[in-house]
Amino acid sequence: MTSPTLEAIYTRLLAHFSRLHGPLAVRPWWPIFGDDPAFEMLVGAVLVQQTRWEAVEQVVQRLLAADLLSPVALVQVEVADLGPLLRPVAFYPQKASGLRALAAYIVTGYQGRTATLLARPLEELRAELLALPRIGPETCDVTMLYGGGHPVFVVDAYTRRLFARVGPAPHQHEPERWWRDRYAQVRQTIEVTLAHPVPAEPPVALYAEFHAQINEVCVRYCLARPRCDGPPSRRVYSRQDGRESYLDRADGCPLREICRYYREEQHDAASRGSSGRKRGKPA
Ligand code: SF4
Repeated sequence: MTSPTLEAIYTRLLAHFSRLHGPLAVRPWWPIFGDDPAFEMLVGAVLVQQTRWEAVEQVVQRLLAADLLSPVALVQVEVADLGPLLRPVAFYPQKASGLRALAAYIVTGYQGRTATLLARPLEELRAELLALPRIGPETCDVTMLYGGGHPVFVVDAYTRRLFARVGPAPHQHEPERWWRDRYAQVRQTIEVTLAHPVPAEPPVALYAEFHAQINEVCVRYCLARPRCDGPPSRRVYSRQDGRESYLDRADGCPLREICRYYREEQHDAASRGSSGRKRGKPA
């Protein structure tokens, strides 16, 4: 069997889940509730570190209710007062001081306009974001892609797990590299591999949609214990209107036909079955 391509994975996911992402100002896949989408995006990207999205939305709602979801408002709050609002997320004391510092940075350097910061040239923005507190490579890239519209592919644990299991080119002979390689290396590999094949989508749209699709298949099927043959997990992870339409599907994972892990599981099960039958035969 030929190894699957990233494009084949993307095409199958898109056919299964339909399009999930729209531009930030219209209907982004990243749920937005307030009227400062760029800052909310950055806040959510920090809050979601080591945390389920449900808890992030809880905190976003609290910040909105307290009228704190803007750099200008947030910079005026004491970290000690912000901490309790963030309690549902992991490492909330550190995230409280991190968010407060981010707000101060945006107020001082960009007159409180996060969109102006995110509109900086890609490499300059990446260096600037990575120098800020609570921002590592994944948080940086997800903010640049969904908040700033920059063409960067986001590599998260879902991406690594999915690709290591499905086993697409160019690492078809060493699928563990999707786990083992450093962040920037995996991102570069994906961006270079996706640069040539067919998708007639601009990189920003392609990367944003592909990441959303990866997230969806990993939440529904490719969990730590995969649900290859279904049914999908019915977890509701966002309160945003329309998200429940994601839960309609009742069938199995759309990647079964091209997935290395699934093929090997089937093969192992068949071997166990045939050796079991042999063991069951009368001597
Ligand atoms: S077939 Fe199973 S292991 Fe493969 S991607 Fe789907 S859920 Fe994951």
